[in-house]
Amino acid sequence: MSIAEQANEILHSVFGYKSFRNQQLPIIESVIRGEDNVVIIPTGGGKSLCYQIPALILPGTTVVISPLIALMKDQVDQLLAYGIKAAYLNGSQSPQEQQFVANLYIQGEIKLLYIAPERLATSTFINMLKSVAPSLIAIDEAHCISQWGHDFRPEYLQIGQLKAKFSAVPIIALTATADDVTRKDIIERLNLDKPQVRLTSFDRPNIRYTVVERLNPLEQVSSFLTNQKGNSGIIYCSSRAKVDDMASRLANRGYSVAAYHAGLTTQERANAQERFLKDDVAIMVATVAFGMGINKPNVRFVIHANAPRTIEAYYQETGRAGRDGLPAEAILLNNERDFNWYQTVIAEKEEGFHKSVELHKLSEMIAFTQAQTCRRIVLLNYFGEHRVEKCNNCDVCLYPLEHYNGLVDAQKILSCVYRVGQNYGTQYLVDVLRGSNRSSIKENGHNTLSVYGIGKEHSADYWTSIIRQLIHLGYLKQDPTSFSALFLSEEARNVLRGDISLSLVKPRLELV
Ligand code: ADP
Ligand code: ZN
Repeated sequence: MSIAEQANEILHSVFGYKSFRNQQLPIIESVIRGEDNVVIIPTGGGKSLCYQIPALILPGTTVVISPLIALMKDQVDQLLAYGIKAAYLNGSQSPQEQQFVANLYIQGEIKLLYIAPERLATSTFINMLKSVAPSLIAIDEAHCISQWGHDFRPEYLQIGQLKAKFSAVPIIALTATADDVTRKDIIERLNLDKPQVRLTSFDRPNIRYTVVERLNPLEQVSSFLTNQKGNSGIIYCSSRAKVDDMASRLANRGYSVAAYHAGLTTQERANAQERFLKDDVAIMVATVAFGMGINKPNVRFVIHANAPRTIEAYYQETGRAGRDGLPAEAILLNNERDFNWYQTVIAEKEEGFHKSVELHKLSEMIAFTQAQTCRRIVLLNYFGEHRVEKCNNCDVCLYPLEHYNGLVDAQKILSCVYRVGQNYGTQYLVDVLRGSNRSSIKENGHNTLSVYGIGKEHSADYWTSIIRQLIHLGYLKQDPTSFSALFLSEEARNVLRGDISLSLVKPRLELV
């Protein structure tokens, strides 16, 4: 039997699938020929079979290195359910259990052995591999070895020594998301030998990408959720405090939510994850600590309340939506403040190659949020997949920006700024425009101004968006020394006099 025939036979009889997906077969054939492989297939694309089938065809054992100790047991249980001899070794086991698994390995009784990278630091383990070499080494989440990837893990660096120690053993490195810099870094750090680099299309056509201005995240998320009817989804926030805040506010509004971040105990995190996976709770509010390796097919939406730093991270995180192939939403609430903060953090780092790569990746992410080109075109081209046809399933394609003559709106705002003495921030201005009952407005006597309530016809979010545009266009300035109080620039006079035409973008207030 040829390798292809054997692989097909196993695909049907062991896994019960009809046919291989995209590149699975050529990858399996190459692995069995003994070549090194770097496999970049989006989440849900079927990476596991690329080493599981070779593991069954090759004699001996395949060692699988995975960072997710919490998921190892599930992965192994799944294989056992298929009738495949598999086991794992990690620190959660007693010394006796570990010895038992080691003996199975030495006796050639298991086809797949899952380990965490930390294990490679122990001489007992390396000696075990030296006494009986594995037939294949699979490295899952291989981007973790690269500092350019979005989830660098120092313990992954140890994997780099394997090639020197076991030069005859082929390596297959797998990841869902790696841009060009990260790919090269993976190959270098793993010391791979002329690897085959396999990419499948990065496109996730069922995911609709939307980037909207972040105005009031809680309200924006709530209004989105009203149309989701208990669907499962993930909401990413950038800090523990923001996660707790968002989760408790959504819970107060009656939504079924769990929270997940590194500040919780291992047990609390495991519970939250378990409830989410079992659909006991619909929504997971989390930091990026949540999600890697999670295989939940029916995640209908991923909302970023804060932007990630890189397109790789964004793509990885949004990729957790719609693994079942059904329509799913990826929504980014965008606010330049997130990026300003990242820029400050990076600026403080030492000059050098590292800094320049980080800045580059950040600027690509910023450009993505600002793009007026189809989001999917931008994303796919970023990953080196050339695409020019627009997708008709992103906000840029579906809701092209609408411009309008904004002179009157701008005049209302600018005269309001002037009347309150150029001494107040955006929120206050919006309240005066909308005629709010806020007590400070009365105390200041601003409820008697002619501009009080002249903007009643629009929502607070609407006015916030217009004020931001006027800042961007240079008609309004903010005083950094006085709580970002708004004041008029020189050019604002032309607007107040009505001397110019002023095209503004109609605020888009609905998420989808
Ligand atoms: P990845 O690791 O790339 O995210 P998985 O290996 O977990 O993806 O596969 C995703 C899902 O697709 C799994 O449920 C898997 O069993 C299924 N799958 C993989 N390959 C095939 C195939 N050739 N035919 C049908 N289903 C497949
Ligand atoms: Zn598009």
